[in-house]
Amino acid sequence: MIPDKLIRLSKSVIGDAEKKAVMGVLDREYLGMGKEVQEFEDLLTRHFNRPAVCVNTGTAALHLALQALGIGPGDEVLVQSLTYVASFQAISATGVRPVACEVDPSTITIDIKDAKKRLTDRTKVIMPVHYASGMGELDDIYAFAKENGLRVVEDAAHAFGGYYNGKKVGSFGDIACFSFDGIKNITSGEGGAIVTDDETVLQKIRDARLLGVEKDTEKRYSGERSWDFDVRYQGWRYHMSNIMAAIGIEQFKRLPEFATRRQSLAKRYRNNLGSIDSIELLDLDLSNIVPHIFVIKLKSGKRDDIRRLLLEQGIQTGVHYQPNHILSLYNGDNKSLPVTEELFHKLLSLPLHPDLKETDIDYICSKLIECLD
Ligand SMILES: *Cc1c(COP(=O)(O)O)cnc(C)c1O
Repeated sequence: MIPDKLIRLSKSVIGDAEKKAVMGVLDREYLGMGKEVQEFEDLLTRHFNRPAVCVNTGTAALHLALQALGIGPGDEVLVQSLTYVASFQAISATGVRPVACEVDPSTITIDIKDAKKRLTDRTKVIMPVHYASGMGELDDIYAFAKENGLRVVEDAAHAFGGYYNGKKVGSFGDIACFSFDGIKNITSGEGGAIVTDDETVLQKIRDARLLGVEKDTEKRYSGERSWDFDVRYQGWRYHMSNIMAAIGIEQFKRLPEFATRRQSLAKRYRNNLGSIDSIELLDLDLSNIVPHIFVIKLKSGKRDDIRRLLLEQGIQTGVHYQPNHILSLYNGDNKSLPVTEELFHKLLSLPLHPDLKETDIDYICSKLIECLD
């Protein structure tokens, strides 16, 4: 029996400002890509101190970033197997082979030593995933990429609002992709953004998000569109709408509030669970990140039993993630990744979103400890 009142694993947190902003767009009856999208991009560009381009999902952001690098069939991208299937789908959408790598179990970010072993002359990109908002050894990844002439596309879907070595994630490095789907650190309903200094990549992405129609972005931001145009490469309908951007603008203003809330809830989990022998916590610097999910490792590996017991107590949990190299689409070479496969069975995500109370965290922790006993 699942109780009526469920503590949700994650959820959107939407206030009157977001509702009013959406009504404003509906009242003006210009729903597509126009001035709200431009305004949201301007806010993000100021936030990162370099250009940001908005699209309709984080997956589209990753896909367009890879496409803009000009990679395709025959090329390879290094990526950790333990990530959301979106990372893999974005890579395979370009016709490129995702090369599944192990993770460092302490941070669940890509194991650079393992990635080095999988480097071939077809490798063009490495895609570090900022798992649970942590960046792992990002400096080492950039050093490795530089040595081997690779581009870096950061899957920063979890990491909006975080800092690495004192620098805002997305404000430095090659290309960073963010997600604003309903449960991420901020949301635009669905949505995503690409951030980079690379002007060629930026222009290709601005065109490719609107069916490859050259320079359509500028037109749409002034309420017009192109009737006379050229198309040079494959594009998609990946642009963000004004409705989405209106939500995103209001959510962006709330980042400090969400960040403080998520940090303090995650810290409370760590205080409550830090001394429990059967639990291992990730190696994360919670003061410098905005935690998107709260993941623990259960040494016993009895994850699925614990999940069922917690659900009976009204606590919804999750598993981030099933390794991708075991999925039918990606297991072509039947590769085995022993570290990832062992780790996967231990991973448990506990509820984390800004509407949770301290008392919810204490309740969840006490029930979890009970279940473990
Ligand atoms: C959410 C997420 C994405 C994709 O973002 P969407 O906006 O949902 O398409 C990509 N990678 C990771 C790790 C994610 O969590």
